[in-house]
Amino acid sequence: MKYFKFHSLLLKEGWLSPAYVGVDDKGIIQYLSGNEPQTAEAIEAVNGAAFPGFQNAHSHAFQYSMAGMAEQHEADTSDDFWSWREAMYTCAESFAPEQMEKVATTLYRHLLRNGYTSVTEFHYLHHDEQGKPYNNLAEMGERLIAAAKTAGIKITLVPIFYQKGDFGKEPQPRQRRFISATVDDYFKLLDSSKEAVDHYEYAKLGFGVHSLRTVDAKDIITTYEEGPKELPFHLHAAEQLGEVERCINYLGKRPVEWLLDNLPLDNRFHIVHCTHMTSLETENLARSGANAVLCPGTEGNLGDGIFPLKAFARYGGNWSIGTDSHISLNPLEDLRWLDYAQRLTTHKRNTFADGASVLIEKAFFSGIKAMGSNARDYFAIGHSLDAVVYDITQPLLAQAGMKHLHAAIVYTADTSAVLGTLVNGAWGYKKGWTMIL
Ligand SMILES: [Zn+2]
Repeated sequence: MKYFKFHSLLLKEGWLSPAYVGVDDKGIIQYLSGNEPQTAEAIEAVNGAAFPGFQNAHSHAFQYSMAGMAEQHEADTSDDFWSWREAMYTCAESFAPEQMEKVATTLYRHLLRNGYTSVTEFHYLHHDEQGKPYNNLAEMGERLIAAAKTAGIKITLVPIFYQKGDFGKEPQPRQRRFISATVDDYFKLLDSSKEAVDHYEYAKLGFGVHSLRTVDAKDIITTYEEGPKELPFHLHAAEQLGEVERCINYLGKRPVEWLLDNLPLDNRFHIVHCTHMTSLETENLARSGANAVLCPGTEGNLGDGIFPLKAFARYGGNWSIGTDSHISLNPLEDLRWLDYAQRLTTHKRNTFADGASVLIEKAFFSGIKAMGSNARDYFAIGHSLDAVVYDITQPLLAQAGMKHLHAAIVYTADTSAVLGTLVNGAWGYKKGWTMIL
């Protein structure tokens, strides 16, 4: 057993302080108490406040290589999501497997530095530069798994079915690396991805389709119905107004409306963005139990719009966060974005009675489901010790006291306050470590 003594550790009912945690050699919590354990073994003292490790429910690792490089806009031209997408296609066109592994390794190390302990990789860059499948269908997925293993982060690989150019349109040549022509082709890719996941003890598998734009409606239904019954199912929906308009023209319904009417939405579904919904869609999606995956840094950067968080929460909606294009890697910044966008549009401060508690709870429990795992508390005996620890000697955290500590972390802290990140009871990042690029 290895023991830690944290200044404080967040549980669902509040702070445990001090908190003694003992883990076995797999990093599974075997001891959790405010009382010092009776042990002759050394106890590592950590003068910090431990949050549960953040769950990154949506990542496209290759896009990290262009984050911050599509920000110069020519005067009198229209730059929006669709022109950004052209830049992203250019990036994807020549991305080699070695590059994928290198970029993803760097990204995942920086995610750990920001307090993420798990990442869900929504992966659609499958084939070679000509658009031909690699000999190993899951070559690129295997690189992502290898990167996660090197960095020491947990990963859920979600190989994505991408079939069309847009609603009813054949793929553009620039999308050739993403394409599986049929459901059977996609299932072969999914089978190979399962083998890739077996290479790393802390890798899991999910499945999904890119969006209503890029897979035939009937094939989306078939993929879900004939796909694995136990895995989380991910897809993008309703990110852009233009997409909503084309969906209405092609399918006769808005994207979320179509999903509600055609798939048995429940808590296995992780629907990314859901930015543009009517009040009725918002209510029905929340009541369905499906999870919205919100990526406020990317959604802000791309000018997508503002998710109706307050209304969604009123109906009990579940949601997680993701870093998507990786323009922002700091989960606290993304949580603040979510809350502040509501405040800016409602002219009220109290999006929630206790915003920090709600933000942490939703992001954690939905995020865990997006990864294909489950948990009953942030930390519990029998679960792995995955945590991000904040330095309570930082002035604003030191003055907050236990009553305001969780809110002071969520609303004021930046990455410099992170003392370290623990994955399976071992430091995946510790302040002062040189980040290897
Ligand atoms: Zn995405």
